[in-house]
Amino acid sequence: MLKRHHKTEALILKASPYGEGHTIVTALTSGGAQLKAMAYGSRKLTSRIGGHLSPLTRVELALYKSRDMDIIKQAQNLESFLELKNSLSRMTKAFFVMELIEGFSNTGVGNRPLFDLSLMSLRGLQSSSNRDIEDLTVSCFQLNLLKVTGFMPELYTCVECRSSLNSNNYNFIIDIGGLCCTKCLSGHPGRAINISSKSVEILRQFDKGGTLFSELPLGSTVELRRLLDSSTGFWLDREIRSRRFMEHMNSRDIREPMSAIDMESV
Ligand SMILES: [Zn+2]
Repeated sequence: MLKRHHKTEALILKASPYGEGHTIVTALTSGGAQLKAMAYGSRKLTSRIGGHLSPLTRVELALYKSRDMDIIKQAQNLESFLELKNSLSRMTKAFFVMELIEGFSNTGVGNRPLFDLSLMSLRGLQSSSNRDIEDLTVSCFQLNLLKVTGFMPELYTCVECRSSLNSNNYNFIIDIGGLCCTKCLSGHPGRAINISSKSVEILRQFDKGGTLFSELPLGSTVELRRLLDSSTGFWLDREIRSRRFMEHMNSRDIREPMSAIDMESV
């Protein structure tokens, strides 16, 4: 017999208003599957669960299975990421991370490493001491996201012929999934991104689970960001909306209060 009541730990990714006072919640369960669930009456003042369902909150949910969508009956707060929410710079990056988690997770398909990576990255962002570390944490998350979801680029040999690579001339082709040797490159005119050996070294370091570099040449961080954004955007098959907002916030004084226009663009 189908068990209609169940509980799960989950990270809230999105809370969309629905109808009169209800919310559709998108979350990543601790099993790494995407969950969409309805919270009836959660935006009413008397609701006991509404306060626990804001994005960027780890919760324990008690759910009831219904035909179309699970219904949230209870929610208990487990982790609020308050220090993350208190910094506009870190929070915009956390929203970018959560947009990617939503894009790369699937309903009904578990991926526990994705849940672990998500929590680790958000906690890493929360404890980042400056913007450079925040950006590196995001880049590291993006590469590991590709890894745990099966889209890891080839970084060590030519993705097509498996021959060794010329360390003075690295070319990355996103849609074939990694670095390409000069011989195979001719089969992909105009599609290669030339990247520096320093960036390749950093990517390999990330891949091997190495610690984050605290100081990197500016050129490498820009190059890495471009490469990882292009890769995640390609596999997601759409532009990552919050990246533009994140760049906008990075380019201005973050002590400024968030304007209504900024809020609308999130
Ligand atoms: Zn080749």
